[in-house]
Amino acid sequence: MNIEQLIRPNIKTLKPYRAARHDFASGVLLDANENSLGSVIPADGLELNRYPDPFQTALRARLAVLAGLKAENVFVGVGSDEVIDLLIRIFCEPRQDSILIAAPTYGMYRVAAEIQDVEVRQCLLTEQFQLDVEKLKSALSATTKLVFCCSPNNPTANLLRQDDILALCDTNAIVVVDEAYIDFSDAESLATQIDTYPNLVILRTLSKAWGLAGIRLGYAIASPAIIEYLLKVKPPYNINALTSSAALRALENPGRMKQAVRAIVKLREHLSEQLKKMAAIERVFPSDANFLLVRCREAKTVYRLLAERGVIVRDRSAEPLLGNCLRITAGTAEQNSLLLNTLNEIKP
Ligand SMILES: *Cc1c(COP(=O)(O)O)cnc(C)c1O
Repeated sequence: MNIEQLIRPNIKTLKPYRAARHDFASGVLLDANENSLGSVIPADGLELNRYPDPFQTALRARLAVLAGLKAENVFVGVGSDEVIDLLIRIFCEPRQDSILIAAPTYGMYRVAAEIQDVEVRQCLLTEQFQLDVEKLKSALSATTKLVFCCSPNNPTANLLRQDDILALCDTNAIVVVDEAYIDFSDAESLATQIDTYPNLVILRTLSKAWGLAGIRLGYAIASPAIIEYLLKVKPPYNINALTSSAALRALENPGRMKQAVRAIVKLREHLSEQLKKMAAIERVFPSDANFLLVRCREAKTVYRLLAERGVIVRDRSAEPLLGNCLRITAGTAEQNSLLLNTLNEIKP
């Protein structure tokens, strides 16, 4: 497996922008036209008048420790959404290459590809919401550069079988496994497999289990060859000082994240049991994430009535395999009660 062969030629030869902070990060800094007097707001010891570290050394080192890997295996982006966008730009030649997705799944893979004028090939998941490996493999061609697998999958909420994902790694494509919800499941991350599969990229985010969607921080775990290209094409200062600082503070205490996850899983399980008793709900699918996929008798009606009472859920009923399905995030005990009480008033 040769990653170099899959890189777009213009990216291979690209001379990356060298920003001031690439060369020196300390000293008498008169090189970046910053405000030498300081920032107009106080910021808890952060030097907000200075451009942040373009390599995010501390943050990547910390994430690597938590993953049991090296900093050279970690890339941080403005949410995993930025990583998805960069991967497509590194590997996919517009109007020539394609990506492959297993639908229904997270919408950003398609949007990021379409923005780059990259074809999106789509295979349906099986009825059990698992990968159809044979179908996926036959949808691949030499110009299919990336395969996206989301596990646990959004919006179906289930884990994908690891053997199926690894079977896709035995192709010539880059396999991107989006583990945004992995902390809510009992599964082992596939991050342990990156030394075996140089074409495997794992995506993680602080937006879900860590409760930090507002700071916009996601990361990729992959072989150094892929991480180097991500570093090469990223905007020089993509991660700002406030985000870095908040992320580092949060990552000091994984115990708190795990505690929150346990609480959310309990709330989700309780919500699931209650939803199963509702006349308006036909089916509650098993979940390995912090949300539930439910099949209603009439999704549009349920969605509208909930919204009228100020309870906002996601209507996924237009997607393949998801007729009459809504996606509901596990809320607080109070929020879940409000949802359930409102649903109770809906007569079939
Ligand atoms: C929420 C979510 C993300 C997170 O994206 P960020 O840009 O990191 O906030 C990524 N993938 C999936 C499948 C998600 O549901």
